[in-house]
Amino acid sequence: MSFRALLVTKAEDGSISAAVEMQDDTALPAGEVTVAVEYSTLNYKDGLCLGPGGGLVRTYPHIPGIDFAGSVEHSDDPRYAPGDKVVLTGWRVGEAHWGGYATRARVKADWLVPLPAGLTTRQAMAVGTAGFTAMLAVMALEDHGLTPGNGPVLVTGAAGGVGSVATAILARLGYEVAAVTGRPETADYLSRLGAARIVPRADLAETVKRPLETEVWAGCVDAVGGAMLARVLGQMRYGASVAAVGLAGGSALPASVVPFLLRGVNLLGIDSVMCPTPRRLQAWQRIARDLPLDLLESMVQPAALAEVPALGAAILKGDVQGRVVVDVN
Ligand code: NDP
Repeated sequence: MSFRALLVTKAEDGSISAAVEMQDDTALPAGEVTVAVEYSTLNYKDGLCLGPGGGLVRTYPHIPGIDFAGSVEHSDDPRYAPGDKVVLTGWRVGEAHWGGYATRARVKADWLVPLPAGLTTRQAMAVGTAGFTAMLAVMALEDHGLTPGNGPVLVTGAAGGVGSVATAILARLGYEVAAVTGRPETADYLSRLGAARIVPRADLAETVKRPLETEVWAGCVDAVGGAMLARVLGQMRYGASVAAVGLAGGSALPASVVPFLLRGVNLLGIDSVMCPTPRRLQAWQRIARDLPLDLLESMVQPAALAEVPALGAAILKGDVQGRVVVDVN
C-alpha cells in the first residue's frame, strides 16, 4: 500500500524543498490509528515547517501539516473504529511527527478527537488550529469575566486565520469587535465577519511611550505580539484581559508592567498544541455552536497539495486572508 504526500527534504547544502510524491505505508510512523486524510489546512506554523524557519522540524524527509481531518482506516485503540470521522490538531504532529499533508497518516489515539457533531471534515479544517486557538482564546477571556456588556474587544492580526475566526465568534456572541489589520483592502471582509470597526495597524505600531493610555478595550485576542501587544496592554480597561495567542509581529514584548500593577490587567497565555483533551472537546463543541458556518465558508481559500509550498511562503509574509483548506486527495 502507498499514499500521496507533500514530502519536505533537506539537501546536503542545507536547502529545503517540497514535492508531492508517493510513499510506501511502511514509512508511516508508529501509532495506534491510521487515518485516510480528507482535508488539511495551512497555519502560520505550517509555513515555518515547509521551509527552514523556526527549527521546528528536526528530522527529514518530513511530511508537514499540523492539522488533519478524515476517516479511520485502522485502529488498535478501542476508542476508534474504521469509518469513524476524526480531527487532529497540535501535539507536534506536522513538526516532530509526520502530519496531514498526505492521503494517509498514522498517529496516537490520544491525539485525535471525534469530528464534532454538526461539522464536516472540510469545515473542521476550515477551523483548524487557527480557529481552534481563537476559540480557546475567547474561552479564556470569558473565564476571566468577559461578557458582551463589558465594552469593545480588540482582535489583532484580524484578517489572518486566528483573527478571522476570533472576529466571527466574538461578533456572533454579541461583542463589539474592533479588528486591527495592516491590509485596508480586507475591511469589507472583516465587516462581513462582524467587525464593528477597523483599526489600522499603524495606530498600534509605535512602541510604548506611556505605560498607560486611555482605557479602551474590555478584552483582546492578540495574534501579533511584539510592540503591538505592548501598546494594547496600556489601553486595556481596568481588570480586563488579553489572550496572547501569536507572534506574527514578533516574539519580544517591549512592555511595561504598569498596566498589570495599576489596572489589574491580565495577560493570558493560550496554547493549542498540548491543550488537554477535555478542554479540546469543550472548544470544539463551542466552535460547532458559536461559529456561523456561512461566515466560516466565506473565510475559506481552497487549495490542492501541490499549491501548499507557495501558500506557506505567503502566510509567513502575512499575505494569506482567512483560512486555507487543503484537499489532499
Ligand atoms: P496568519 O498569517 O493567518 O495571520 C497573522 C496575521 O497577523 C496576518 O494576517 C496579519 O493580519 C498580521 N500580521 C502579520 N505580520 C504582522 C506584523 N509584522 N505586524 C502586525 N501584524 C502582522 O497566521 P495565523 O492566524 O495562523 O497565526 C497567527 C499567530 O498565532 C502566529 O504567530 C501563529 O504562530 C500563532 N498561533 C499560535 C497558536 C497557539 O497555540 N498559541 C496556534 C495558532 C497560531 P492583518 O493583515 O489583518 O494585519
